[in-house]
Amino acid sequence: MSAIFHRQIRTTLPQAVSASGLYITDTAGKKYLDACGGAAVSCLGHNHPDVIAAMAAQMAQLDYAHTSFFTTRVAEELADTLIANAPAGMSHVYLVSGGSEAMEAALKMARQYFVEIGEPQRKHFIARRQSYHGNTLGALAVGGNAWRRAQFEPLLIDVTHVSPCYEYRDRLPTETTQQYGQRLVMELEAELLRLGPDKVIGICVEPVVGATLGAVPAVPGYFKAMRALCDRYGVLLIADEVMCGMGRTGTLHAVEQESMVPDLMAVAKGLGGGYQAIGAVLAQRKIHDVFAHGSGQFMHGHTYIGHPVACAAALEVQRILQREHLVEASRVHGLALQRKLQAAFSRHPHVGDIRGRGLFQAIELVADRQSKQPFAPQLQLNARIREQAMARGLMVYAMGGTIDGRQGDHILLAPPFIVEDRDLDAIVTRLADAVDAALAALP
Ligand code: PLP
Repeated sequence: MSAIFHRQIRTTLPQAVSASGLYITDTAGKKYLDACGGAAVSCLGHNHPDVIAAMAAQMAQLDYAHTSFFTTRVAEELADTLIANAPAGMSHVYLVSGGSEAMEAALKMARQYFVEIGEPQRKHFIARRQSYHGNTLGALAVGGNAWRRAQFEPLLIDVTHVSPCYEYRDRLPTETTQQYGQRLVMELEAELLRLGPDKVIGICVEPVVGATLGAVPAVPGYFKAMRALCDRYGVLLIADEVMCGMGRTGTLHAVEQESMVPDLMAVAKGLGGGYQAIGAVLAQRKIHDVFAHGSGQFMHGHTYIGHPVACAAALEVQRILQREHLVEASRVHGLALQRKLQAAFSRHPHVGDIRGRGLFQAIELVADRQSKQPFAPQLQLNARIREQAMARGLMVYAMGGTIDGRQGDHILLAPPFIVEDRDLDAIVTRLADAVDAALAALP
């Protein structure tokens, strides 16, 4: 009997004992091909000797120094590296310990920014339905999964949700892609005007929607138009790149593919590649300057922010990504993965959509391709596929269906950037078997 308060209390999980490259091994010696990087975390694969050496060296030299007493060379170097490769105008980095913390800090930074410039009446955020921004109360508030929020609702901050950009399901047959994007931007503007634009702090978006929809990019021009709206109404644009960032979509930041520069950007997951718990908020200079010339402090902080060992891990991960051109590998292997998914599933009667960018690809399952009718959520098809995949030694990120019953179940693939073509073949073959086995076993 486990003493751990597990997330899924009635599920018995295999115990992982070791990992190397693309594989995790359990106590029975079974190897699992990590086709999702856990939750799109492992970008370098497991057990990279250089990252382990960097962490060990840091640990031996300086294990911990609280950020209210000291800065550290490793944290400064990491921040410099992130800013050297950041979207235009971003000048400062606030280091945290994960994705929810990064979003939480970004929300508070945005609010404090307006308090500092004398606009304290701005209290409201706008976000999108079918988005996930983390599980702490602020991040949960901006997230758009009704089922995750329901029981915590009275505690959540002031947010309204607009439509996500989800072309497969939401573009009307009478609309062009461009008209669809314009309609969404008009909906967003209408919401801003309804709330009163001078009451709104910011708009939170995942540039490529991850956990909730499964690697759904927006249509061309949508984010650029959103940026223009934010500028018109003086509202901040907060990009959540926790899942889709740090090379996952084939460019270091997903926003690079959108001709859009956010005011604040949250990153995590691939930042430390799973070697340590680390996240960060990247901020535009104009935001940092307001704090610097105003109160002089960000009213926020956690004990482990800027942890030297986490910074050493992230710095080494980022160096390896650059040295080994792994962001480009994510782009190129991503194209190959998409081709293989197309070959395996484009005529499958229950795969309605195949989408994604870089090594961030997904399939959406439907009961009927023509009508796009999802499977009934209570069938939990995505969980059944994950189970069948695990039985075949394949880890995939399965979601959807139960989120709001409107979209289909989806299977997200986000393998480490070190994958090779034969690994992609193994992933797609095992996934196809798992999908068919799960469908065949449906009641
Ligand atoms: N934001 C996005 C887009 C995410 O996908 C996640 C996690 O999946 C988070 C925030 C929360 O990150 P964490 O689980 O590290 O707190």
